[in-house]
Amino acid sequence: MNDGIWLPFGYDSSDRLTYELLCKLSWDYYSDCVKAKRYQSIKRSTIYDKYRSVDQLKKIVPPYIYNGYKNTTVKFENGFEDQFIKMNTFKINIPMFIEELKTEATLRGVKFVDKCFQNSSDIVNLSEKCVFNCTGFESKRLFND
Ligand SMILES: Cc1cc2nc3c(=O)[nH]c(=O)nc-3n(C[C@H](O)[C@H](O)[C@H](O)COP(=O)(O)OP(=O)(O)OC[C@H]3O[C@@H](n4cnc5c(N)ncnc54)[C@H](O)[C@@H]3O)c2cc1C
Repeated sequence: MNDGIWLPFGYDSSDRLTYELLCKLSWDYYSDCVKAKRYQSIKRSTIYDKYRSVDQLKKIVPPYIYNGYKNTTVKFENGFEDQFIKMNTFKINIPMFIEELKTEATLRGVKFVDKCFQNSSDIVNLSEKCVFNCTGFESKRLFND
């Protein structure tokens, strides 16, 4: 799977204001990238959502950011048809986006080191003064958090 879509579903924040601010920062960032044609990996795209209602979508995408949902019937080539909600969002080709970001950062002097950390002491022993832990789900194994 190469493509990801901008849809911040699943993030149920009790701090709605912060949540909406983060959504806006992220949406504006991708909008600016598309307008400036900064990355080939980010495109506006029509998507069809089967599992959520318009009301649910409005809860996860702040309505002032996007509000253009349409109920639509989709007919498939095999004759099957079903109801979907049609909307427009950003589609990001993740492997390409990572390569584009990496190239941009390299041109700005960032040095990348490929390294697999076996345990937390591998990280504690790094010479760098500051480390951001961005190991996703694997951070449970490394730090139990
Ligand atoms: C199938 C699937 C589809 C998804 N689709 C979408 C979507 O369409 N839209 C969306 O918004 N989100 C989507 N998500 C969720 C999204 O991918 C995650 O929320 C996001 O990638 C989390 O980013 P992250 O940087 O926290 O972690 P990750 O992307 O998991 O990055 C962690 C990195 O740390 C590295 N790492 C881990 N352990 C070690 C170690 N010990 N040593 C060295 N490196 C290590 C990993 O190799 C990885 O590169 C999807 C997730 C999945 C699984």
